[in-house]
Amino acid sequence: MIYLNILNKYMLLETLFPTRCAGCGAGACQPLCPRCNASLPLISGPACSRCGTPTPHEVDGCVECLGRMGRLDAAVALASYEEPLRSVIHKLKYGNGWRLAPLLGAMAATRLAPSLLSPRPLLTFVPMHPRKRRMRGYDHAEKLAGGVGKALGLEPVPLLERVRPASPQVSLGREERQRNVRGSFRPTAERLHGEEVVLVDDVLTTGCTVVECAAALKAIGAGRVIACVLARDVLASAPATRLKQAARLRPVGR
Ligand SMILES: [Zn+2]
Ligand SMILES: [Zn+2]
Repeated sequence: MIYLNILNKYMLLETLFPTRCAGCGAGACQPLCPRCNASLPLISGPACSRCGTPTPHEVDGCVECLGRMGRLDAAVALASYEEPLRSVIHKLKYGNGWRLAPLLGAMAATRLAPSLLSPRPLLTFVPMHPRKRRMRGYDHAEKLAGGVGKALGLEPVPLLERVRPASPQVSLGREERQRNVRGSFRPTAERLHGEEVVLVDDVLTTGCTVVECAAALKAIGAGRVIACVLARDVLASAPATRLKQAARLRPVGR
């Protein structure tokens, strides 16, 4: 009982005054320890402008996304979905880690800025279902959009609502994911007038969710829709394709 009380007190203190690194849990380092900060799998070189996958040179469509990004015009990802970013994103979503959003959002904004076409795009996010939001207490994508907006001097606006709760997608293939998100989003704005829209989310895997959101936004008149995500998860989207691509890219003689 005493142990539980101490544990509860500790958890409360950690929530109110977090001191641990969100990547590795090292003490007295927040939000990230120098080692985790230095080992974030940032994408800083060329990438596919349609899905954010790192590529040997800039391309508009790659083996991971060609013909599959629907109404989504572009995507930028801050980093690859690898450690320590995986743990950081987990913390952001499940560990009451919304405090990480300003830092992560500002970093994502730096990656996003050169890919914007208009000086003042509309900034929005992939919304959570209201029930889930109530349970979690906050919407991590909305918090992230807040971080991106602060860095770019833009105010996030909710343009979509999630009308069907998301079921877990991790074990699903592309077609199942597509079916899973179809009709999940409804615009909350009445009409847009060709504005560029930035759509913020945490991870882009197959892209089915952001593609569905882009379609809903274009249905009310959005112009170019660009997804801005923290991480591009390529392995989970098409492991077979990736292996084939890796084999093809391997230099001869190795
Ligand atoms: Zn760390
Ligand atoms: Zn691509």
